[in-house]
Amino acid sequence: MASHIVGYPRMGPKRELKFALESFWDGKINAEELQNVARSLRTSIWKEMADAGIKYIPSNTFSYYDQVLDATAMLGAVPPRYGWNGGEIGFDVYFSMARGNATVPAMEMTKWFDTNYHYIVPELGPDMQFTYSSHKAVDEYKEAKALGVETVPVIVGPVSYLLSSKPAKGIEKSFPLLSLLEKILPVYKEVITELKAAGASWIQFDEPKLVMDLDAHQLQAFTHAYSELESSLSGLNVLIETYFADVSAEAYKTLTSLKGVTAFGFDLVRGTKTLELVKGGFPSGKYLFAGVVDGRNIWANDLAGSLSNLQALEGIVGKDKLVVSTSCSLLHTAVDLVNETKLDSEIKSWLAFAAQKIVEVNALAKALSGEKNEAYFSANSAAQASRKSSPRVTNEAVQKAAAALRGSDHRRATNVSARLEAQQKKLNLPLLPTTTIGSFPQTMDLRRVRREFKANKISEEEYVKAIKEEIRKVVELQEELDIDVLVHGEPERNDMVEYFGEQLSGFAFTVNGWVQSYGSRCVKPPIIYGDVSRPNPMTVFWSTMAQSMTKRPMKGMLTGPVTILNWSFVRNDQPRFETCYQIALAIKDEVEDLEKSGINVIQIDEAALREGLPLRKSEQPFYLDWAVHSFRITNCGVQDTTQIHTHMCYSNFNDIIHSIINMDADVITIENSRSDEKLLSVFREGVKYGAGIGPGVYDIHSPRIPSTEEIVDRVSKMLAVLESHVLWVNPDCGLKTRKYAEVKPALSNMVAAAKAVRTQL
Ligand code: GLN
Ligand code: ZN
Repeated sequence: MASHIVGYPRMGPKRELKFALESFWDGKINAEELQNVARSLRTSIWKEMADAGIKYIPSNTFSYYDQVLDATAMLGAVPPRYGWNGGEIGFDVYFSMARGNATVPAMEMTKWFDTNYHYIVPELGPDMQFTYSSHKAVDEYKEAKALGVETVPVIVGPVSYLLSSKPAKGIEKSFPLLSLLEKILPVYKEVITELKAAGASWIQFDEPKLVMDLDAHQLQAFTHAYSELESSLSGLNVLIETYFADVSAEAYKTLTSLKGVTAFGFDLVRGTKTLELVKGGFPSGKYLFAGVVDGRNIWANDLAGSLSNLQALEGIVGKDKLVVSTSCSLLHTAVDLVNETKLDSEIKSWLAFAAQKIVEVNALAKALSGEKNEAYFSANSAAQASRKSSPRVTNEAVQKAAAALRGSDHRRATNVSARLEAQQKKLNLPLLPTTTIGSFPQTMDLRRVRREFKANKISEEEYVKAIKEEIRKVVELQEELDIDVLVHGEPERNDMVEYFGEQLSGFAFTVNGWVQSYGSRCVKPPIIYGDVSRPNPMTVFWSTMAQSMTKRPMKGMLTGPVTILNWSFVRNDQPRFETCYQIALAIKDEVEDLEKSGINVIQIDEAALREGLPLRKSEQPFYLDWAVHSFRITNCGVQDTTQIHTHMCYSNFNDIIHSIINMDADVITIENSRSDEKLLSVFREGVKYGAGIGPGVYDIHSPRIPSTEEIVDRVSKMLAVLESHVLWVNPDCGLKTRKYAEVKPALSNMVAAAKAVRTQL
């Protein structure tokens, strides 16, 4: 019985690649030094898998930035603005595409399916010439071979590649990207030929697009592509890997009928219907790569449960045709539990990061072939049992309260127009009120103070004093700028989820549980392991302190339940909505405590609501229903005069506009950096959206300072679409990554613009 790993994290157990990349970009190390770090990471990963006994070890899942960008380089699909003249693509062109350079902006980046990983979107058009321009896949295969490790080279499949791309600037939006198949397949053939010549006996094409809702034409592209490649592929074993969901019945039929393909990989963790499909028929003589070990989470596998699933599959596909695998690349989980020095041993026994998952995959494969490691399996089932029965996991009262929420609705009693009227009497705001999204610049000093307090190097008194001074500075600045609704600036937070997680029960934190988000950027999601409750108020102290410094309304600032959920590693022993409802109840307590303490405006950020949207349309309504319900639970208990804001970090929600409206916030601020008027008309037309809306008037992701005229122009355009009494004036998002030298003039221009437009109303 064989074992396989779909892909492995690149960053290294202590983010070695991140630091090497950033040093290289800063000119502190040269290309060779960067390559050395990369090579030693690859070597240790391959060795680790080989030592564990993995049979099908991936290569080319390493990347200096992103695997889709690697495919772009392989195909030589470099947009003309980078001035590339052919030849093997080096760091210069590669990193220019990824990050931009002094003269040319980067290519667009977008989320990879429903993960928090971002890829570089290929920009294609009818004139794009494709030439084989990066031999990385072959080089890495050879590199492993030289180390004595036989690997399976992994390449983004041609159809998923095209379906992940977009028409280049100036090309019709309706340009049929799949029409480029004919042009990219010759390059794929060259790569395949070279891999064969180098001695490869397997190749893996990642075709995750197969889990999406595809039409007949798109499915046909898979059939076409692989029959085109069939003759080049002969002599090779070909694995088509899918992940992140199950494939539809039609996609399953297309997939399992592909020419020249020997093996099919499925995500059996998220793809709960796959087992049924396989039972309905699996092509004889082909391999099934069964992704039973979760690549998206950090929980130890339930080995006994997996074993019995695998045995069922074995009965269908045959003993020698079943391969134990991960549900997707381990890129989306943390790297190695060994480096977790702060987690207690009980929680640690419930977890498995990438390095531990390799061992799990191998142990399952061994068990299937009759070499079960009894000690390992019984330690695993003891850990599973301890997790089930631990009093740290279960809180009866919370379970009951959350269960009671289901089936019933929760919303504020009065409609939004009446509420806004009541609020206005209390707040007395001008037309086009100005505000900001929450955070102010996070200076080095501020980070140091937080760090020292955490490490007990300064007393609580000193800490409170330092933060209080910072809040005062931020409040005074906003008064000087004449902003209408103030914020305290979030100086006490290093992260909008971690800050709340640390104060809620049911959360644990890692020291090295980093997951790549994009390029060298990583996030360290908290782990939700138990029922969530709020032992004490979390923000009341700082918010009331800030309110006491000003007569203007001070916004209480909270992170919403859906965002806390979507940016954490979530427990897998209960449905996601259950956990979300629990967080919602905790945030509800906080909202009500803030209200009681005299905070009249409360912002509940749902920056990540959209990214939790399931990939398949059929599953989206259910998610949106409980996600929006969770948000409403947090504030259904407040008085009409309390103004609830929410903020979202994206503007592409044409498809979920009804859900956004259904959140029933009083004011919603959204990202709108590209001044997308279409978005605003969506708001106007998508039901009479009576609530306040603040589409960002300038982009905070850039250091550029917008002029007053420019903002006046923006706001005027918005007024062409939205009524003046609902429009708010605010930046795109929080200011924490900016410098005061940028923030002061930008906000000053923003306020001047709002005042200028007011005089014209
Ligand atoms: N209130 C948060 C801030 O301003 C919101 C951040 C976000 O939307 N990502 O930093
Ligand atoms: Zn934002």
